[in-house]
Amino acid sequence: MSFDACYDRLANSILNRFTSDQARERAAIDKEVSQADLKLKVAELTGSLAEIKLTLTEARSDAADKDHEISRLRKLQQRLVDETVEVYGYRYQKRTDGKGPAAGNPMRDGCFQKNGLLIEIANVYGTGIQNLRCPNCKAEYAGLHTYTD
Ligand SMILES: [Zn+2]
Repeated sequence: MSFDACYDRLANSILNRFTSDQARERAAIDKEVSQADLKLKVAELTGSLAEIKLTLTEARSDAADKDHEISRLRKLQQRLVDETVEVYGYRYQKRTDGKGPAAGNPMRDGCFQKNGLLIEIANVYGTGIQNLRCPNCKAEYAGLHTYTD
Protein backbone atom coordinates (compact mmCIF):
# COMPACT_ATOMS: atom_id res chain seq x y z
CA MET A 1 0.00 0.00 0.00
CA SER A 2 1.33 3.38 -0.90
CA PHE A 3 1.58 6.12 1.63
CA ASP A 4 -1.08 8.11 -0.18
CA ALA A 5 -3.51 5.20 -0.20
CA CYS A 6 -2.84 4.54 3.46
CA TYR A 7 -3.35 8.19 4.31
CA ASP A 8 -6.64 8.31 2.36
CA ARG A 9 -7.96 5.23 4.15
CA LEU A 10 -7.06 6.58 7.55
CA ALA A 11 -8.48 9.98 6.71
CA ASN A 12 -11.71 8.44 5.46
CA SER A 13 -11.99 6.31 8.53
CA ILE A 14 -11.51 9.32 10.82
CA LEU A 15 -13.90 11.33 8.71
CA ASN A 16 -16.54 8.57 8.84
CA ARG A 17 -16.22 8.26 12.58
CA PHE A 18 -16.39 12.00 13.00
CA THR A 19 -19.41 12.24 10.70
CA SER A 20 -21.31 9.49 12.46
CA ASP A 21 -20.53 11.04 15.86
CA GLN A 22 -21.78 14.31 14.50
CA ALA A 23 -24.87 12.62 13.12
CA ARG A 24 -25.57 11.02 16.50
CA GLU A 25 -25.13 14.37 18.20
CA ARG A 26 -27.36 16.02 15.63
CA ALA A 27 -30.00 13.36 16.12
CA ALA A 28 -29.88 13.85 19.90
CA ILE A 29 -30.22 17.61 19.49
CA ASP A 30 -33.09 17.15 17.03
CA LYS A 31 -34.84 14.93 19.52
CA GLU A 32 -34.46 17.51 22.29
CA VAL A 33 -35.57 20.27 19.96
CA SER A 34 -38.55 18.29 18.79
CA GLN A 35 -39.62 17.61 22.40
CA ALA A 36 -39.28 21.29 23.20
CA ASP A 37 -41.25 22.04 20.03
CA LEU A 38 -43.86 19.53 21.06
CA LYS A 39 -44.22 21.16 24.48
CA LEU A 40 -44.54 24.54 22.81
CA LYS A 41 -47.18 23.21 20.40
CA VAL A 42 -49.13 21.66 23.28
CA ALA A 43 -49.00 24.99 25.13
CA GLU A 44 -50.17 26.82 22.00
CA LEU A 45 -52.99 24.34 21.43
CA THR A 46 -54.07 24.62 25.06
CA GLY A 47 -54.19 28.38 24.64
CA SER A 48 -56.20 28.06 21.43
CA LEU A 49 -58.57 25.65 23.12
CA ALA A 50 -59.14 28.11 25.97
CA GLU A 51 -59.91 30.83 23.39
CA ILE A 52 -62.30 28.51 21.56
CA LYS A 53 -64.06 27.69 24.85
CA LEU A 54 -64.40 31.39 25.61
CA THR A 55 -65.77 32.10 22.12
CA LEU A 56 -68.26 29.24 22.47
CA THR A 57 -69.37 30.51 25.87
CA GLU A 58 -69.86 34.01 24.44
CA ALA A 59 -71.75 32.58 21.44
CA ARG A 60 -73.99 30.57 23.78
CA SER A 61 -74.67 33.69 25.82
CA ASP A 62 -75.44 35.70 22.65
CA ALA A 63 -77.82 32.95 21.50
CA ALA A 64 -79.57 33.01 24.89
CA ASP A 65 -79.92 36.80 24.65
CA LYS A 66 -81.42 36.44 21.16
CA ASP A 67 -83.83 33.72 22.34
CA HIS A 68 -84.87 36.00 25.17
CA GLU A 69 -85.44 38.92 22.75
CA ILE A 70 -87.41 36.73 20.31
CA SER A 71 -89.58 35.51 23.18
CA ARG A 72 -90.14 39.12 24.33
CA LEU A 73 -91.12 40.22 20.80
CA ARG A 74 -93.51 37.25 20.41
CA LYS A 75 -95.24 38.19 23.66
CA LEU A 76 -95.36 41.84 22.54
CA GLN A 77 -96.88 40.84 19.20
CA GLN A 78 -99.46 38.70 20.99
CA ARG A 79 -100.26 41.55 23.39
CA LEU A 80 -100.57 43.90 20.42
CA VAL A 81 -103.14 41.62 18.77
CA ASP A 82 -105.03 40.67 21.93
CA GLU A 83 -105.01 43.86 23.96
CA THR A 84 -104.67 46.87 21.64
CA VAL A 85 -106.50 48.51 18.75
CA GLU A 86 -105.41 51.13 16.20
CA VAL A 87 -107.57 54.25 15.91
CA TYR A 88 -106.63 57.02 13.45
CA GLY A 89 -103.00 55.92 13.31
CA TYR A 90 -102.55 55.60 17.08
CA ARG A 91 -102.59 52.42 19.07
CA TYR A 92 -104.73 52.24 22.21
CA GLN A 93 -105.73 49.70 24.81
CA LYS A 94 -108.80 47.77 23.61
CA ARG A 95 -111.94 48.80 25.38
CA THR A 96 -113.55 45.77 26.95
CA ASP A 97 -116.93 47.11 28.11
CA GLY A 98 -118.46 47.18 24.62
CA LYS A 99 -118.77 50.98 24.52
CA GLY A 100 -116.15 51.64 21.85
CA PRO A 101 -112.95 50.47 20.24
CA ALA A 102 -110.37 52.12 22.48
CA ALA A 103 -109.64 53.12 26.06
CA GLY A 104 -107.27 55.58 27.69
CA ASN A 105 -104.40 57.48 26.13
CA PRO A 106 -102.64 56.42 22.92
CA MET A 107 -99.38 54.45 23.02
CA ARG A 108 -96.18 56.29 22.19
CA ASP A 109 -95.62 55.38 18.50
CA GLY A 110 -91.91 56.31 18.43
CA CYS A 111 -91.03 54.17 21.44
CA PHE A 112 -92.97 51.27 19.95
CA GLN A 113 -91.37 51.51 16.51
CA LYS A 114 -87.83 52.12 17.76
CA ASN A 115 -87.69 49.92 20.84
CA GLY A 116 -90.74 47.65 20.69
CA LEU A 117 -92.09 49.24 23.88
CA LEU A 118 -95.83 49.58 24.41
CA ILE A 119 -96.07 52.66 26.59
CA GLU A 120 -99.26 54.54 27.21
CA ILE A 121 -98.62 58.27 27.04
CA ALA A 122 -99.30 59.95 30.37
CA ASN A 123 -101.16 63.12 31.15
CA VAL A 124 -98.93 65.98 32.16
CA TYR A 125 -100.28 67.15 35.51
CA GLY A 126 -101.27 70.79 35.78
CA THR A 127 -101.39 71.41 32.02
CA GLY A 128 -104.88 70.14 31.23
CA ILE A 129 -106.00 66.78 29.92
CA GLN A 130 -104.93 67.55 26.33
CA ASN A 131 -101.23 67.63 27.11
CA LEU A 132 -99.56 64.24 27.08
CA ARG A 133 -95.98 63.08 27.60
CA CYS A 134 -94.27 59.72 27.04
CA PRO A 135 -92.91 58.50 30.40
CA ASN A 136 -90.04 56.80 28.56
CA CYS A 137 -88.66 59.31 26.01
CA LYS A 138 -90.45 62.44 27.32
CA ALA A 139 -91.90 63.25 23.87
CA GLU A 140 -94.85 65.61 24.27
CA TYR A 141 -98.19 65.52 22.49
CA ALA A 142 -101.17 67.80 22.37
CA GLY A 143 -104.58 67.30 20.84
CA LEU A 144 -104.57 63.51 20.71
CA HIS A 145 -107.81 61.78 21.51
CA THR A 146 -108.12 60.23 24.94
CA TYR A 147 -110.89 57.69 25.41
CA THR A 148 -112.43 58.20 28.83
CA ASP A 149 -115.97 58.02 30.12
ZN1 LIG B 1 -91.54 57.45 24.27
